[in-house]
Amino acid sequence: MPMIFLLPCLLVAAASALGFYAGSRLGLPSRARLTVVAFALLTGIASALSQQFELALTIALSGVLFYGASLVKSKFRTGRLQYRFCPNCSSSLHERDFEGHMKLACPSCSFVYWNNPIVVGVALIPSMDGKSIVLVERGVEPKAGMYCLPGGFGEPFEHPKVTAKREAGEEVKLDIEIDRLLAIHTAPGGNQVLVFYLAKPTAQLPSPGSDAKSCAFFPLDQLPDNIAFTTHIEVISAWKQECIAGQNK
Ligand SMILES: [Zn+2]
Repeated sequence: MPMIFLLPCLLVAAASALGFYAGSRLGLPSRARLTVVAFALLTGIASALSQQFELALTIALSGVLFYGASLVKSKFRTGRLQYRFCPNCSSSLHERDFEGHMKLACPSCSFVYWNNPIVVGVALIPSMDGKSIVLVERGVEPKAGMYCLPGGFGEPFEHPKVTAKREAGEEVKLDIEIDRLLAIHTAPGGNQVLVFYLAKPTAQLPSPGSDAKSCAFFPLDQLPDNIAFTTHIEVISAWKQECIAGQNK
């Protein structure tokens, strides 16, 4: 095939490959992408053979523009956690409307990326006299070096109460008993639901375990001023007020 025919064919092939890749970035089903690419390739080759190079050039330009559009769209998607492929069957995920909520869903199987909040179990552990609570100096990011209540992410199918108890065991090596639910908060700026529990007062002494640089009982009137999370500060402060109100009764 002379070079004059080969060049537009190569151009269209390259643009088709780019278009196919762009289609996967945009989450188009693979069948749709293959159909478009096959159509572009055949039209491109036919136009090159019939020396209608403008058509080949138009198809090539469309592929590049399509790719550009996919880049622009992905740029505007930043700030949201995005997945491109189904973890079940590897098909490209695409957005689907679920009662007004756009979710990434798989066109080939039943997988939907719901992006539900992560559940966090947190424990407020008082000393026997009720005048001190256990705080952890964080050994890992985020907020390494700052203080917080012991807590962490739930394991699959775990009740948040069990999470709070387990995390107390892992982070401050205390075998606590849960007294009652204290509060439920959402994490500001994070996709998490924090479930705070009050532990029964304990005479055990905490010692740092996983993720903790140090830990100790802190008197309620001498809490460190660098407590990491506003929700923890709110819960501690509300419980402190409750204790004061109880003493004044
Ligand atoms: Zn799937």
